[in-house]
Amino acid sequence: MVPYRPEPFTDFSNETNRKAIEAALDKVQAELGQEYPLIIGGKRVKTDASFNSINPSRKAEVIGRVSKADAELAEQAIQSAHETFAAWARVPVEQRVRLLFKTAALLRRRKHEFSAWLMLEAGKTAAEADADTAEAIDFMEYYARQMIELDTTAASRLITLEGEDNDLRYIPLGVGVIIPPWNFPLAIMAGMTTAAVVAGNTVVLKPASATPVIAARFVSLLEEAGMPPGVVQFLPGSGGEIGDLLVSHPLTRFISFTGSKEVGLRIFELSAKTAPGQKWLKRFVGELGGKDAIIVDSEADLEAAAQAIVAAAFGFSGQKCSACSRAIVHADVYDEILQRCTELTRELKVGAASDFSSSTGPVIDEAAYRKISSYIEQGKKECRLVAGGGTAGEKGYFIEPTIFADAAPDAVIMQEEIFGPVVVFCKAESFEQALDIANNTEYGLTGSVFSMSRSRLEQAREQFHVGNLYFNRKCTGALVGVHPFGGFNMSGTDSKAGGPDYLLQFTQLKLISEKL
Ligand code: GLU
Repeated sequence: MVPYRPEPFTDFSNETNRKAIEAALDKVQAELGQEYPLIIGGKRVKTDASFNSINPSRKAEVIGRVSKADAELAEQAIQSAHETFAAWARVPVEQRVRLLFKTAALLRRRKHEFSAWLMLEAGKTAAEADADTAEAIDFMEYYARQMIELDTTAASRLITLEGEDNDLRYIPLGVGVIIPPWNFPLAIMAGMTTAAVVAGNTVVLKPASATPVIAARFVSLLEEAGMPPGVVQFLPGSGGEIGDLLVSHPLTRFISFTGSKEVGLRIFELSAKTAPGQKWLKRFVGELGGKDAIIVDSEADLEAAAQAIVAAAFGFSGQKCSACSRAIVHADVYDEILQRCTELTRELKVGAASDFSSSTGPVIDEAAYRKISSYIEQGKKECRLVAGGGTAGEKGYFIEPTIFADAAPDAVIMQEEIFGPVVVFCKAESFEQALDIANNTEYGLTGSVFSMSRSRLEQAREQFHVGNLYFNRKCTGALVGVHPFGGFNMSGTDSKAGGPDYLLQFTQLKLISEKL
């Protein structure tokens, strides 16, 4: 088998590539507005209740009409996953792995088409969409290989004892509830789902309500690649109506969640309660928020630092849990960095994600738009506004890339996750103080340090308490297999998606010892 390599990104300045994505956009545009039923036990279930997924760049454009599960259908979905589990768990690893390789191959073939859906349903620019699709391919290629590795090497790690034949196996857990986010609606959704499935579990996938069409299309791709009915149930619905029920169900064995801290904490709590008839301790795998900082030292490549802050703060309108939402800058270079970031930010053009002249697109929906706007108002009270601060067009949920300066370390907008195009600058008198400020939140996901000083980088290596620490580069854009992703403290269970230990969370180890 060829070793895993991350999927290359597409260069859209190349005419051929540009034409290909434009053709894909035309194809997808012609397929907008279709109906997407639930999928339970391989059967399509159309419900009377439904909701529209819309294009955040053009609120009036419906991406698809999606069926909506209620409590009864959620129960059916869990039962279907439960019934299928016994058989799927026994399917040989090579066959489960093949499903991921095949799906990755199909996705690679239809890469631009899926990226076009991401541009329209999630408001990603072509480059951001392409990276999302590439990462989905990567997760499948990587987890498939990791599963082979786990399966074939477990027993060899045992100490041999004369007179005994000892065997160690990673076996699946059971029924999983997968609740992915809307911000990487293909990559993270596909990664969370296929990791659980390749390990031998069956799942109920409750897609994010803002991006269900991409998820539905991905499940169809799994089916095309030969996934048996009942392995993945596709179950859109509201958190209130079905989310709690799925998490609390006695047949649910684990919950894999990526999203906000508030929802994550609620799921964590619910999953800790034992339902009548439940036979196990549920496992909770959660990737929650971040309040990520880029530190700029007095001795640093200032241009590179400014470029990184702007890219990590405003790429996909700051809607990444890895996004730079705090710039903590040494007093000696503070004015210069702030000035350069302001210039770079003013050059950004906000507009429809499918318009190639846009540097960034909209935020995801009305609720996000309101929440971010209220944080901007909060920022105006607490700090000095130096760029943006307003909306950028009525057709979609557009918000100007916004910079606040001179924040106190404990200001609300220095502490709470905004999940939008807002970065807050804070001045540090020393490198030590910069580290203290950076660590002074309840989160611990990503962070970057720009410095030319080896000793300061080494100090940060020890003291900057984040799951993904980067030196002299931006804090977004982790690559599968290269930068396993996940954070500390309120950022989650440090599950390290795209890392060598990720699959362990969806398996349990069985030791079999035979006396000879
Ligand atoms: N893995 C992504 C990155 O490194 C972020 C994932 C997320 O926002 O949930 O930028």
